[in-house]
Amino acid sequence: MSRPIVLRGGRVVDPSQDLDGTADVLIEDGRIEAVSGQITGPDDAEVIDVAGKVVAPGLVDVHVHLREPGGEHKETIHTGSHAALAGGFTTVWAMPNTDPPIDDPAAVGYVRLAARAARGTRVMPIGAATIGQKGERMTEVGELVKAGAVAVSDDGAPVWDTGLMRRLLEYTQTFDIPVLQHAEDRELAGGVMNEGKVSTELGLRGLPNAAEACIVARDVQLAELTRGHLHVCHVSARQSVEQLRMAKEKGLRVTAEVTPHHLILTDEMCRDYNTEAKVNPPLRTAEDVESVVQALVDGVIDVIATDHAPHTSEEKEQEFDYAPFGINGLETAFALSRKALVDSGRLSLSELIDRMSCAPARIMGLEGGTLRPGSPADIVVIDPDERWIVDPSDFRSRSRNTPIAGWELVGRAHRTLVGGEVRFERA
Ligand SMILES: [Zn+2]
Ligand SMILES: [Zn+2]
Repeated sequence: MSRPIVLRGGRVVDPSQDLDGTADVLIEDGRIEAVSGQITGPDDAEVIDVAGKVVAPGLVDVHVHLREPGGEHKETIHTGSHAALAGGFTTVWAMPNTDPPIDDPAAVGYVRLAARAARGTRVMPIGAATIGQKGERMTEVGELVKAGAVAVSDDGAPVWDTGLMRRLLEYTQTFDIPVLQHAEDRELAGGVMNEGKVSTELGLRGLPNAAEACIVARDVQLAELTRGHLHVCHVSARQSVEQLRMAKEKGLRVTAEVTPHHLILTDEMCRDYNTEAKVNPPLRTAEDVESVVQALVDGVIDVIATDHAPHTSEEKEQEFDYAPFGINGLETAFALSRKALVDSGRLSLSELIDRMSCAPARIMGLEGGTLRPGSPADIVVIDPDERWIVDPSDFRSRSRNTPIAGWELVGRAHRTLVGGEVRFERA
């Protein structure tokens, strides 16, 4: 076993235990041994001075695209899991819309093996909801779960067949896993940016808010019918928030996520046909941004998830209509969310860490998301005051696609520990 570690003198912020104050953290055998005012022993411990830094449970992202297998020119499990570490994440959930999709137990096993070899963040595979993600036949959900899948999703596309979605929400209860839904009505799809004033001015086809809200409304009904766990991905539209608010009021097992970009950027970013701002669901209006921020504050939206979607520069440099959807999110997520929420006074730092670590662990029933003694020592040490410029050429990710290159942000991960092992250290 590795040497014990003492993280000395940091500001320990652990919303799962209502902790926010100076303390030491002792790590032994990969687990949190103690969190208290001053820890002296054991003699062989490695002491790391973290005074002036925030020590928090490692961030958890339930929605990333690591592109392997089939998209290794954009990202691999290795590069993606190290980008995650640099962003302060200790666990990510990998979406199955690879080539081929992760729709059988062998493919789930492949992701787990590649993740272990990468020695980056923990990577948990999400299985496809339907075979080939074609939306027709349900996968062998039980077999996927046995192989290590933590959820099912056809993300990239919705499960659009209402009967199939009903059966998924029923069947997944046997395994106590959620169905993660990319809510987008097929008949209203086909646009390339938010439908509104800006799309009209640019002459680009729009994706209306209703494309998302129609499916959210339908699925909330199915969650009520089945009592299954529906998790709505990347909520962007204020009308979706209204549906989710109703679901929460009824006490349904409905959870939801929002991305950092939807918490602060608007469709104005698409002006000049800026393909870096092309993402699905699209960046919407200031009114929608306000609505998703308020929903995250209220708990109507439970968590922040990046929907990290790497693409090469060549792919993004095409015309707006042809460029792929997606934003590279892992390495900017914390600081961008902080700018959107903490600097604007909407959430405290502790509440932000809750939405990025404790809450995702809690809603998905994971270990982690806490510094409680006995828990895995998945920890992030953040410099809360560091000012830095987003320079995509510094990304650990294989891709550079971000609409916020050149932005000055505050706060970032300095050390990330997974199972008590320092796996990332910023030079
Ligand atoms: Zn999606
Ligand atoms: Zn996605």
